[in-house]
Amino acid sequence: MSSARIFDVGSIREDFPILCREVHGKPLVYFDTASSAQRPLQVIGAVDDFYRRHNANVHRGVHSLSQEATDLYEGARGKLARFINANSEREIVFTRGTTEAVNLVAQSFLRPRLQPGDEILVSHMEHHANIVPWQMLCEQTGAVLKVIPINNRGELEMEALPGLLSERVKLLGLVHISNALGTINPVAEVCRLAKSWDIPVLIDGAQAIPHGPVDVQALGCDFYCLSGHKMYGPTGIGALWAREATLEAMPPWQGGGEMILKVTFEQSTWNDVPAKFEAGTPHIAGAVGLGAAVDYLSSFDPVEMVSHEKQVLDYATGKLEEIDGLRIIGTAGNKAGVISFIIDDIHPHDLGTVIDHHGIALRTGHHCAMPVMQFFGVPATARVSFGLYNTRQEVDALIEALHSTRGMFA
Ligand code: PLP
Repeated sequence: MSSARIFDVGSIREDFPILCREVHGKPLVYFDTASSAQRPLQVIGAVDDFYRRHNANVHRGVHSLSQEATDLYEGARGKLARFINANSEREIVFTRGTTEAVNLVAQSFLRPRLQPGDEILVSHMEHHANIVPWQMLCEQTGAVLKVIPINNRGELEMEALPGLLSERVKLLGLVHISNALGTINPVAEVCRLAKSWDIPVLIDGAQAIPHGPVDVQALGCDFYCLSGHKMYGPTGIGALWAREATLEAMPPWQGGGEMILKVTFEQSTWNDVPAKFEAGTPHIAGAVGLGAAVDYLSSFDPVEMVSHEKQVLDYATGKLEEIDGLRIIGTAGNKAGVISFIIDDIHPHDLGTVIDHHGIALRTGHHCAMPVMQFFGVPATARVSFGLYNTRQEVDALIEALHSTRGMFA
């Protein structure tokens, strides 16, 4: 990629003004990107510029501002479509995020197809966003939720999968990269196996989309869900990708303005896709910011970006493993920039609070993946997660802080 920006962490960090601030008198070390990434100036500027110069409602006005806002909003859809190699921008439905995208598929695509006794398959490492909507659907329809097991390293038990596939399974939902374990799942292989039974596959891409190129066509899935705030964009905006024919065949799931062609008291007719799924005024500035985040991520050579994050991950893994009494939860062979761990009998919440006083932001808790915690027999973990702005020096600061915290609790 000859036009790609050189991957220089120093200059990348200058794009993120928040990284200059201090917390408790110490330079901020932000290791909570898996919860929500920080925003570069390019995204902050795009949102600011939208409100300063172009703000108006979309699709409805003949006046110039409305047309500008519409162009920016639809332009962002086109950027995202190209970013994930969709066939067209009509395959991108803007949602509030991954959670809403999964719920949309559950209620619009799957609900009308389910009979009592049908099965929905998810893995043991799902975020609650890819469990609870299906559980609710099971309650509504009499369908049954089945689980693909994981092993002690936090990898999918691929040998168990063929035995779980059958004509009863009406959808398989799988996380691309686990937010609790960092495991990168063999999504294309799972899709290939599911296809032999004509089972539609939904991929929760919330964690995968910021960590490297995603090609929805190459993966072979039917639905791909993502969140803007995990990929350096705004909160409250995300997307569902599905093929146009699939979206065409799905009924709308929320009614209101924008999603209709004609309304009478007797009957209403629906707009084309994707507008059919975007009832009401959308998060216009959010979409504009998401488009800017796509531009930002696209400015790097993905190979360099992935390799930088992998170097930080490997360095941090090695250093953490040297700490007495520290156990890493999730040791898959193929991992992205997430490390969950526990230390002796220090409760992760206590650890997180003390570490915060060193200026280091890490996440503690169940990470919205309680079944993962149950599998590993822990109530919670501490989790560090990396973005393109993190450095080895920041890892060193974490290791020092962990040593001093251990000393406090000894
Ligand atoms: N799936 C995974 C793997 C996640 O990490 C998250 C958020 O942490 C979600 C789904 C939910 O994303 P959102 O809250 O943006 O809808």
